[in-house]
Amino acid sequence: MDETIYVNLRRVSGAKRFTLRVRSATRDVVLTMPQRASLTSAREFAERHTDWIGARVRRLPQPVKFEPGEMIPYRGAPHIIVHRPEARGIVWTETSALGADVTPMLCVAGGREHIARRVTDFLRREAAKRLRQAAMKHAAAIHVSIGRIGVRDTTSRWGSCTASGALSFSWRLILAPDFVLDYLAAHEVAHRIHLDHSDRFWALTRSLAPHTDRAEAWLKAHGAGLHRYGAA
Ligand SMILES: [Zn+2]
Repeated sequence: MDETIYVNLRRVSGAKRFTLRVRSATRDVVLTMPQRASLTSAREFAERHTDWIGARVRRLPQPVKFEPGEMIPYRGAPHIIVHRPEARGIVWTETSALGADVTPMLCVAGGREHIARRVTDFLRREAAKRLRQAAMKHAAAIHVSIGRIGVRDTTSRWGSCTASGALSFSWRLILAPDFVLDYLAAHEVAHRIHLDHSDRFWALTRSLAPHTDRAEAWLKAHGAGLHRYGAA
């Protein structure tokens, strides 16, 4: 089957040659090219590497939509999305009374057409709530103030902290185990004292979150995979 793959062109002043990247978080292809290279040569380069691009794109994890029957991680545990059109409420989690070997459910009430949006809203709300709780706990422990806490859908980093103390996080951290979310909150709060990634910064982060190294390892192994959920 023929398939069309779009390639984003990026001119970089320091680039000496063409380089291709397939990014899993954004599921796109980026061709970096020297400032003065022609579009024709960029096209030729991409066309010479169509097999490579195709193989890489096919190896990307399949996107998982927020629809009934799909399995998504919530706080590190797989949950199956279940539609409960007649139920009251909006979105809630349920663990079966039958036993621990039954997959927990993420139940969604209301019309089918609202499921994806309701699941997204629920996850963002829970992420904001838990990140705020964790950040406030860590801030109190080291006597620093924090500003506004926002959640967004970032692809390049999991969290950030401005000089004025506003914290921002990826909502996708709610998909990860609790110790990962807690570590990210500790990491950004520690930036209230050290704005760098110096040894002193890491010592402070580890004192707040003893699971820092385990969380970093988890993100390295599974972080990119969190971007496949909820694709439109
Ligand atoms: Zn940092």
